[in-house]
Amino acid sequence: MDWWVSMPKVELHAHLNGSIRNSTLLELARDLGEKGTIVFSDFEHVIRKSDRSLREVFKLFDLIHIVTTDHKTITRITKEVVEDFAAENVVYLELRTTPKRNDSIGMSKRSYMEAVVEGLRSASSSLDINFASDDPERSSARTKKKIYVRLLLSIDRRESTAAAMETVNLALEMRDMGVIGIDLSGNPTIGEWETFFPALKFAREQGLSITLHCGEVPNPVEIQAMLDFLPGRIGHACCFQDEEWKKLRLSKIPVEICLTSNIRTETISSMDVHHFAELYKAKHPIVLCTDDSGVFSTNLSNEYALASNTFGLGRAELFELAKRAVDFIYAGKRIKMELIELFESAARTLE
Ligand code: 5GP
Repeated sequence: MDWWVSMPKVELHAHLNGSIRNSTLLELARDLGEKGTIVFSDFEHVIRKSDRSLREVFKLFDLIHIVTTDHKTITRITKEVVEDFAAENVVYLELRTTPKRNDSIGMSKRSYMEAVVEGLRSASSSLDINFASDDPERSSARTKKKIYVRLLLSIDRRESTAAAMETVNLALEMRDMGVIGIDLSGNPTIGEWETFFPALKFAREQGLSITLHCGEVPNPVEIQAMLDFLPGRIGHACCFQDEEWKKLRLSKIPVEICLTSNIRTETISSMDVHHFAELYKAKHPIVLCTDDSGVFSTNLSNEYALASNTFGLGRAELFELAKRAVDFIYAGKRIKMELIELFESAARTLE
């Protein structure tokens, strides 16, 4: 096994539906095609295409949501996504998803999230999964892989202030089911910061952690406003200008870096100009993440291998990068301590 697969890793930026297995997506699309709900050949073409622009990616998400948004399927995808991350030795996962409402099938944002939690529960048949409690009590299932999973609820940029507030309230109600924070995502060319600000502010006042997709397109006014908000982390930071870099560095806000995603969506033109290198050199807090492992045909081990090959980081440096991510997780102190212990013990066995 390659060492970037066997070393423990922390994933902090993974969208549930974007992490769907390609095989599952094709199977679900084929089923709906047979039922006449969709034209399968249209889907197949889009699913199999690998070089998509940012705009095409959001079109694909609309298609994915048609195929995936029912309770049973959401439960299945959640279980599979957690199993896939655990299989490549991700030991802590913050999985984010946009709670969806679909009146025609009796789905509310709450029932959607309950289906996600059911998926976490059913993953426990194959994994030693901790998804709700900060209690470090270890299960007796020593033979199963251990993974901590926490949930972030995403506000989609198409949503109104009221809908965003509904998501925040749901997150607060579901705190004892592993929900620890809020993400702002969705098509970055849509929506205004002012629309989401009240809900994000309220979420933070109530003790939820916040991460924002920031700077996926050039929008200096929004980037400044987001940095002024001082979120716990930001995702991407691709289209920053000098002023914004300065502010980011001063703020020390950790950045979730998604190398493959940035290249595939062409938000960064090529790997050799990726801001990973600058931020790494400046010792700015960064964490490697997948974004949408299904949509971009990647996984976290692959992102580490890519960083190693592109930026010349050695084994010890990559291990340190993975371990440092523990500092930026949103779960509490006890879990951080357990994870540090786990990394230290892995360091001894990987030596
Ligand atoms: P879901 O929330 O349905 O589980 O995951 C898919 C959703 O995540 C997409 O519809 C989109 O709102 C969001 N998303 C996934 N990847 C990206 C990305 O690279 N940038 C942004 N801004 N949003 C994304």
